[in-house]
Amino acid sequence: MKIFLFKKRAIFIFLTFFILFIFSICYFSRSILLASNIDIKEVSSEFTNSINNIFNSNEKIAYLSFDDGPSPSVTPKILDILKEENIKATFFVIGKKVEEHPEIVNRAYKEGHYIANHTYSHNNSILYKDANSFTSEIEKTDLAIGNAIGINNYSSHVFRFPNGFMSNVYKDKKNEYVKLLQNMDYTYIDWNALNKDSEKKYTKKQLLDNLISSSKNKDTLVVLMHDTKDVSDSSTVLKDSINYLRSQGYTFKNFYDFK
Ligand SMILES: [Zn+2]
Repeated sequence: MKIFLFKKRAIFIFLTFFILFIFSICYFSRSILLASNIDIKEVSSEFTNSINNIFNSNEKIAYLSFDDGPSPSVTPKILDILKEENIKATFFVIGKKVEEHPEIVNRAYKEGHYIANHTYSHNNSILYKDANSFTSEIEKTDLAIGNAIGINNYSSHVFRFPNGFMSNVYKDKKNEYVKLLQNMDYTYIDWNALNKDSEKKYTKKQLLDNLISSSKNKDTLVVLMHDTKDVSDSSTVLKDSINYLRSQGYTFKNFYDFK
């Protein structure tokens, strides 16, 4: 009987340690995996090509993107919803806001979202002042992200121009500075669907309708939203937007899926 009891206890202790061991292996390999995703100075040409050709793909994939954050009032709400829905998205962050709220960017990164570069100041007169200023806006943002997530020499490799490359604002400068982006091992991306949350104060239904009409008859979507509430608050309609896109057969990815 004593031997039996002893054995039982030994099995219990063994199992406890075994489970702890498995958990720590999972945890550490996840950290290594996350870090290795972007702790590289150069990206492959396949990655750049995939981003550049994203709108030509006929796969029903939705890349949700949130610009102009982080903001303490909206970004955490969006992160909560994405977590519940098990969706990885992309955040085009503003460097100076990253410096103000590094913990939010750290959380987004740890939860598997892609942290991309959307300038340091989001101020066109600074961004397009000259080549040095343009480069510095990108580098300062990468530095701020790297500090927030604890990675040296972080480069997001993916840039979004304020107002998008497609807008006519500073068009000549944009055409000129694309070369600078390439030299920095960067590519850029706009969007092909949006809910117009930065245009004016819309109701939830109007925001959803905007998404529905702008995504109609499109296969791969890059959806522009904002994780601020400067105009309309997309976090209020995110669940409905996800449900709608799922009902249309979309799956959700972010740019890590290209690496
Ligand atoms: Zn923006």
